[in-house]
Amino acid sequence: MNKEQEENITSKTYLCLHCGNETLMKKAGELKWGSNNEGSNSVFGFSSHYQMLFCPVCYKITLLETYSDEDMVDYDPFGEVNYYSRDTILYPVNTIDSNAMPENIKEAFESALKVRNIDVNACSLLLRRTLEIILTDQGATEWGLKKKIEEIATKGILPDSLKEASFFTKKYGDSAAHGKELTADESDIEKLVDFVKYIIEYLYIIPTKIQQFKKRIEQQEEQNG
Ligand SMILES: [Zn+2]
Repeated sequence: MNKEQEENITSKTYLCLHCGNETLMKKAGELKWGSNNEGSNSVFGFSSHYQMLFCPVCYKITLLETYSDEDMVDYDPFGEVNYYSRDTILYPVNTIDSNAMPENIKEAFESALKVRNIDVNACSLLLRRTLEIILTDQGATEWGLKKKIEEIATKGILPDSLKEASFFTKKYGDSAAHGKELTADESDIEKLVDFVKYIIEYLYIIPTKIQQFKKRIEQQEEQNG
């Protein structure tokens, strides 16, 4: 390997969310941007380092952001200041871009997103778990997921279409847990991820957005007298 090629390899390993390998990756491109750059008018000190990484195992791309700012500081026992940074995988998408739901639901769903391309059984189980947490949060008290779905649907909280989507999630989750025949393939997993996402959107994200918009309209009407 010549020097030029060496410089294009990351110095530490990263997890590839496409294939699950944790490996050194090839840098296919990068961009640095921060408060020190000409053109930035931020008085708050920050820096973002974007790297497009290429997995040597599955040949797919990861977009990584390494972010640091003046608040991200630790003091060691000797009073030394250490700035730290945070790595976030922006692509493949593995987060839900909203805080409208409780943190445990967000965490459970994002755990499922992180393994969606890597392990279909693990993803099925995690989607089932996410659904169970959602239903409990919505006030389900019955024992067992089947009864919880029916309970929440009967209360009118979940419409028929999403009740059915919940049963699909349960079916694949149960099957993954018990090693049964019904195994999700990649395209099934895509759909199951979407179904749970629709449930989250319906129960948390859409009502929050509507409330925020309503508030905005009321404020404007008040100002206009
Ligand atoms: Zn890979």
